[in-house]
Amino acid sequence: MIVDFAPEDVDLDRAAILRSQGIPEEAEFTENFELIYEGAIELFQKLAEPAGIIVGITISEFKEVFRGEGLNEPENPVEDIYRKSSYLALFAVTLGPVLSSKVTGLFDNGDYASGYMLDSVSSYAADKLTDLAAQHLQSELAVKEPAASSWRVLSYSPGYCGWNISGQKKLFEVLHPEEIGITLNESCLMIPVKSLSGVLIAGAGEIHEFVNSYPFCDTCRTKSCIERMRDLK
Ligand code: SF4
Repeated sequence: MIVDFAPEDVDLDRAAILRSQGIPEEAEFTENFELIYEGAIELFQKLAEPAGIIVGITISEFKEVFRGEGLNEPENPVEDIYRKSSYLALFAVTLGPVLSSKVTGLFDNGDYASGYMLDSVSSYAADKLTDLAAQHLQSELAVKEPAASSWRVLSYSPGYCGWNISGQKKLFEVLHPEEIGITLNESCLMIPVKSLSGVLIAGAGEIHEFVNSYPFCDTCRTKSCIERMRDLK
């Protein structure tokens, strides 16, 4: 299914956006900083064209998608989690080409402060758009299957947690995100840049819990799994 979102559907949490830049909540801000921040929010509301595509897939079909080019880490959390799922769906979301071009344009014109702020707002919004896609799937599932209202739907993406980035190729072959304007370049990066793709895994909350002691976790900068698992409680 193709899902159209509106820019105002995305809840832009100022504290979280600033935290993503390493700015503490208790920081004091200059008038100029506030102008840059407000300018970025206005540009986002004006230029973002959020959209998503979600396609259900069986566990056996996903096994092939996940195998991709055969470059995944031999042990990884996604492999363990999807096998325990109650429902799987491939997904892609995007904020559209205009917003991504604006970020590039600001940097190209030397307006680094505005470019950096809009980039931060857009990256945060793309993550939130993925959450909205997960919520959308959960609502759809709950209509058909009452038990689904207690499931947890979380996203997992190529390029993270042992799923090699080359997995984008097989994922795109099956999902066809070009229907919402997302294409893949030779380096497996998505165009527009502010897009995310992967699999939505639905099931009991416990299936998403794991010990993050895989060899590749040593070099992980975000350790984002910790917060995600904390939110399951
Ligand atoms: S520590 Fe990083 S790489 Fe390891 S599972 Fe968590 S998010 Fe993934």
